[in-house]
Amino acid sequence: MTQIKNLDKNIKLFCIGQSILKRKIYALGIGNLKNAVLFTGAIHAQEWLTCSILLRFFEDIFSKKTLHGVNLSDIFEHRGLIVVPLCNPDGVEIALGGPKTAKQLCSPIEAIIKKSDKSWQANARGVDLNHNFDAGWDVLKKLERQAGITSPSPRQYGGICPQSEPETKALVSLCNALNIKKVIAFHSQGEEIYYYYGPNTPPESELMADALAASSGYQVRKPEGLASHGGFKDWFIKAKSRPGFTVEVGVGQNPLPIEMLEPIYEKIKEMMIVAMLL
Ligand SMILES: [Zn+2]
Repeated sequence: MTQIKNLDKNIKLFCIGQSILKRKIYALGIGNLKNAVLFTGAIHAQEWLTCSILLRFFEDIFSKKTLHGVNLSDIFEHRGLIVVPLCNPDGVEIALGGPKTAKQLCSPIEAIIKKSDKSWQANARGVDLNHNFDAGWDVLKKLERQAGITSPSPRQYGGICPQSEPETKALVSLCNALNIKKVIAFHSQGEEIYYYYGPNTPPESELMADALAASSGYQVRKPEGLASHGGFKDWFIKAKSRPGFTVEVGVGQNPLPIEMLEPIYEKIKEMMIVAMLL
């Protein structure tokens, strides 16, 4: 993690690591970062709209005094918010501009794409970052084999070992370094909220998920199958025994179009504030 840089007296910008192709992974922080909730976006390449949604929220947070009647300076006196809007910068470039954006990795990516009919969700090495965290690794690998996934792939290949990828390591290091209290991982789509991962799930997480659902109209769900292990929120709950959530924003087919940014944001803005207050 690079040194934290003050953009103004309240806003901090820092780099938490680099992607496979050496693109920087940035974090924005506001308030008391010793007591912070972490919002992450775009860990899946086709879900780049979550990056824009998080930046949109951060823009509101730092430019307004109140949001939904909540006094923001009161909140940030004791609490902090860290946003990592773009966890998978190489993958999002591939999703938007094709394999040529991956420069020296263009040919291996083209070879992976040729073998599959799936759209690109992974990083530049064909590892699905949200399957690369250390949570239920053996079960995850068994499920991958059952699904016929045994090598780098546009999606759902978890890598050779947990946290093998620099993007995954960057998030783990950030949580450890700043002792993050709560995580909300934004994905798309489905208007769903996931809060559970095994026995380390804090008892209050279900009630928190209900509050997030009540403030957005989204549904609380339990994960199944290949999506059940190896995710960022799974690792956070398992490693920290603290509340972690996955929020699937919007409805439609990924990638959700940019025109959906404002309607989705309007629907979940209150939930994002509630997530900071819980
Ligand atoms: Zn996703």
